[in-house]
Amino acid sequence: MERATRIEEVRRRLDPERNAGRRIGFVPTMGNLHAGHLALVARARAECDLVVASVYVNPLQFGANEDFDRYPRTLEADAAQLTEAGCDLLFCPRDEEMYPNGLAEQTRVVPTALADVLCGVSRPGHFAGVATVVAKLFNIVRPHVAYFGTKDYQQLLVVRRMVEDLCYDLEVVGVPTVREPDGLALSSRNAFLTPDERRRAPVLYQTLCWLAEQLRSGRRDFSALEEEGRKRIAAAGFRPDYLAVVGAQTLAPPSPGERELVVLGAMYAEAARLIDNLPVQVGD
Ligand code: AMP
Repeated sequence: MERATRIEEVRRRLDPERNAGRRIGFVPTMGNLHAGHLALVARARAECDLVVASVYVNPLQFGANEDFDRYPRTLEADAAQLTEAGCDLLFCPRDEEMYPNGLAEQTRVVPTALADVLCGVSRPGHFAGVATVVAKLFNIVRPHVAYFGTKDYQQLLVVRRMVEDLCYDLEVVGVPTVREPDGLALSSRNAFLTPDERRRAPVLYQTLCWLAEQLRSGRRDFSALEEEGRKRIAAAGFRPDYLAVVGAQTLAPPSPGERELVVLGAMYAEAARLIDNLPVQVGD
C-alpha cells in the first residue's frame, strides 16, 4: 500500500488511473480502524479497481467540549490493517494540508434540514464540519464510489444529499453496521467505556430492537415509545440524548402510512457519547 500526505501526491497517483478508466473506490475514516471500517474497505475492494482510504481526524467536525484531543490516533496499526485488507493508497494528511488557511477559512458546506435534527441538535456545527471535509476529500480523490457506514445514518443521508445537491459525479454506498456479538455497534469511542459501562452498553441496540418490534407489531404512538425507550436507557445507567422514530429518507416524524422508517438513538456514558440506529419496514 502506498501512502500520501500531500494532496498533490494523491492527484499525481490517481489521475492516470482515472484516465485509464479504472474505477476508484474511496473510504474516508478518522482512523483507529476496526472491523466496521474494514467492512467498507472489503466492499470497495470487491467493487472497484483501486481502493483509496483516508485517515484524518477532522477538527472542524468536533465541538469545543468534545473529544478531539483524546480521539484515538493509531496510524501505524491502521496502515497495517489497510494493507492487509487490500487498500492501494492511504491518504493521511496533516491539518496544514487540509486547512492551510486555518479552521476559520471562509468556505464551508453547510447542510440544512437533515443536519438540524437528532445529532445536529446536540452537536451544533458537526455536520457542516463533516460535509466540508467530505467535499474536500471528494475533490482531492475524485472517486467513482464512496463508502460510508449506515452506523452513522444521519451522516450517510447528509453526504448523499450533498452529493446530489452539489452535483458530485459519484455514487455513495451505505454499508450495514458491524456489531459485537452482544449487539453493540463497533465504534472507536467504545474504548472510552469503563468495563462496567461496556457490559451495559448493548442496552442502546436492545432498545432500538424493542422499538422496531413495537412498530412492526403496529404501534404508532411514537412519543410514548420514545419515552419508554429513554427510560430503558436511563435504567441501565446511561443518560439518553435522543431516541427517535423518523422517516428513513427525511429524518422527520413519519407521515401516516409511511412504511420505510428508521429508529435512531444516542446516549452518554461517563466519557463517551454512543449512537446507533436500525431501519424498520412497517406495514400500513
Ligand atoms: P469514523 O472513522 O468513525 O469517521 O468512521 C468512518 C466510516 O466507517 C464511516 O462511514 C462510518 O459510518 C463507518 N463505520 C464506523 N463504525 C462502523 C460500524 N460499526 N459498522 C460499519 N461501518 C462503520
